[in-house]
Amino acid sequence: MRLRDLPSVDELLRDERLASEPHELALAAARAALEHARDEIRAGNDPGSLVDAVMCELERSSRPSLRRVLNATGVLIHTNLGRAPLAEAALARVTEVGSGYSNLEYDLEAGLRGSRQDHLGPLLERLTGAEAALVVNNNAAAVLLALAALAEGREVVVSRGELIEIGDGFRIPDVLARSGALLVEVGTTNRTRASDYERVIGPDTAVLLRVHQSNFRLVGFTERPKLEQLGRIAQRFGLPLVDDLGSGAVGRVGDEPTPAESLRAGADLVCFSGDKLLGGPQAGVVVGRAGLVERLRQHPLQRALRADKLTLAALEGTLALALDPSARDEVPVLRMLHEPVESVRARAERLAELVGGEVEDTVARVGGGALPLAELPSAACAVEEGLAEPLRLGEPPVIGLIRDGRTLLDCRTLTDAEIDEVAAAVFAARVDA
Ligand SMILES: *Cc1c(COP(=O)(O)O)cnc(C)c1O
Repeated sequence: MRLRDLPSVDELLRDERLASEPHELALAAARAALEHARDEIRAGNDPGSLVDAVMCELERSSRPSLRRVLNATGVLIHTNLGRAPLAEAALARVTEVGSGYSNLEYDLEAGLRGSRQDHLGPLLERLTGAEAALVVNNNAAAVLLALAALAEGREVVVSRGELIEIGDGFRIPDVLARSGALLVEVGTTNRTRASDYERVIGPDTAVLLRVHQSNFRLVGFTERPKLEQLGRIAQRFGLPLVDDLGSGAVGRVGDEPTPAESLRAGADLVCFSGDKLLGGPQAGVVVGRAGLVERLRQHPLQRALRADKLTLAALEGTLALALDPSARDEVPVLRMLHEPVESVRARAERLAELVGGEVEDTVARVGGGALPLAELPSAACAVEEGLAEPLRLGEPPVIGLIRDGRTLLDCRTLTDAEIDEVAAAVFAARVDA
């Protein structure tokens, strides 16, 4: 076919198969299909049936943009794939609260206006031993709010070893600047001592900030004061110690510090994420001293950063599971983290048998800026390298990893129930490849 043999948009739209489609949508799809056909002809290819291409385009444009995907990467908290999958119990709470009205800001006992911040307080206080708690949209917002409320126009002391960047541009110095606080750096990249903090504390100091080195580890000639030491300094100077923990494991996960430990060690406020090791929805939690939490609650930014009712519902459902040690594995992130490699391998073997692939030992990762050195023994089903792209473009999309000329489908981040779906996707991808 030559360029001049292509039909016009109007001619194309006259095809009876397109007659029942909404005009605006069909028009846009026809233009896109013609554009694509022109590119194909220029590249020396046959553009194929134009009506089929329009139908395909229509189907694609009617699909939601935000979709479920199957994570076969072996990265548990995958930032690009939506971090933590939610527990059934958390989803049930979302459905219950979201499908009707709720007492989001209504005090049922008093029959008066209430606060959305009152719902999760008691659960968070029980889990962490804190006096008070506050929930905002994400942990970046929690840190921003804490610094704005406690240190605007004043100084915040941070170790140079903790001026970190978390995925996609969350940089401690930048957040600090946005909060209106002034950064005072102490120590060096690898070594910071308690005396470094003491030396810079002055009349303008408002907060000592400790930041968890979430996504990296410093090894070799290194030193940083224990949180207890910082807590004592903060107390001596009458300053709040704010600990940005990042990951927020409430139970024991590797060597990750928990909010309860951090508070016991002397932190006055602790900030952590809802969707990292806690395994809940995107959220930022602040726990700590009642007076400080109240200052955050009163700050005008709180209104802009607070969490939505669906988030609160999902977080409440997740926290309820965290309170019950026997329910731990109902939180998908924790289940994937603790699953014995034998049962991961059994899943890989089943998938390999279904699709004619090979089982391969792999190493899964926690991801999401938590436990960066942890290597979780895992198993994948290896299939042809050329399937990676059609798998990604299929329905549902399956995201694997390409290694040594093959596509690896890591089974630590897939559930038993998803194995049949992945197998079907592999067959469909072979047809498309
Ligand atoms: C992940 C992380 C953040 C940002 O948390 P979000 O929930 O992604 O906003 C902030 N500080 C630390 C130390 C982190 O690990």
